[in-house]
Amino acid sequence: MGNVENVVILGSGCAGCTAAIYAARAQLSPLVLSGEMPGGLLTQTTEIENFPGFPDGIQGSELMNRMRQQAEKFGSRFLAATAQMFEVQGNRKILSLSDGNKVEAKAVIIATGSHPNTLGLPNETELLGGKGLSVCATCDGFFYRKEVVCVIGGGDSACEEALYLSKICKKVFLVHRRDVLRASKIMADRVCNNEKIEVVWNSVPLGFTLDEDGFVCGLKLQNIKDNTLRTVGCKGIFLAIGWKPNTQIFKDILTLDDKGYIKIFDKAVCTQIPGVFAAGDCVDPFYRQACVAAGMGVQAALEAEAWLLSYEE
Ligand code: NAP
Repeated sequence: MGNVENVVILGSGCAGCTAAIYAARAQLSPLVLSGEMPGGLLTQTTEIENFPGFPDGIQGSELMNRMRQQAEKFGSRFLAATAQMFEVQGNRKILSLSDGNKVEAKAVIIATGSHPNTLGLPNETELLGGKGLSVCATCDGFFYRKEVVCVIGGGDSACEEALYLSKICKKVFLVHRRDVLRASKIMADRVCNNEKIEVVWNSVPLGFTLDEDGFVCGLKLQNIKDNTLRTVGCKGIFLAIGWKPNTQIFKDILTLDDKGYIKIFDKAVCTQIPGVFAAGDCVDPFYRQACVAAGMGVQAALEAEAWLLSYEE
């Protein structure tokens, strides 16, 4: 085992990189474990038009490259590894890494993100790369303005996405596998009373129809009550079937909520273990926005810096 690190940041998405920029500028020389998806979920999207400072938009991977460069410029070190085990001994945090090494740290910032549930249908991964399938209406809805779109799911997220899209799209089909929405009553009522939204009940997606360029042009559905099939013509399809935070390795050591999100105990980013902070989508089931994750990364780095000022073995 080498030196004890001041701060180890788990994850190199928006929250992790922003925490790294702040921690590095505070002269903490943070070590960033870049994780299973270096750069995080934004590297999987195409153009990002709602990150401040980029009036002409920026590609997700380009934005994440720039964040990493900015973090490295101030002294952050990135390691292509994932934490596989996490223990706490006194104030020391011990991480076992995917490369077989162990790292000890005084402070840890968990920014491991989350991943969207997907349907497991053919072409899904490829279509998610900007070809008509999306997991974020706020991010991608604008590309489908004045078009017909589908939203899949029956929870609050699906309703929120459908309502958002109804303001900019020609028509929204909300496809749900049951005959009652899981969403809160107020959201469900808003959806059912919105004349631009048509709920397709008791229906499950069977596949996507594609145009000659490989972009989505329809969604194949099966009604599970009468087994009838139909295809809804649409340019965009939004999956809103839940998310899973990447928090499995913390389940025995930190308090997680019933969906696996890390619980915060003090201020916005403090877990119940002193010196362990959490930021971004592994904590936040609601907003899931790059700017929000970045802001939490800032908070986590500032809290880590304050914690290290009074650190004792
Ligand atoms: P969720 O409540 O877990 O809902 C997921 C929806 O997707 C459910 O309707 C589920 O159907 C459906 N689904 C899951 N797997 C599916 C599959 N393989 N095929 C088809 N449909 C599938 O997730 P969420 O909507 O993201 O909400 C997560 C949490 O955040 C909730 O606590 C929610 O209240 C909260 N939230 C709140 C707001 C707000 O207050 N404005 C906004 C967003 C989220 P079933 O219903 O049949 O299980």
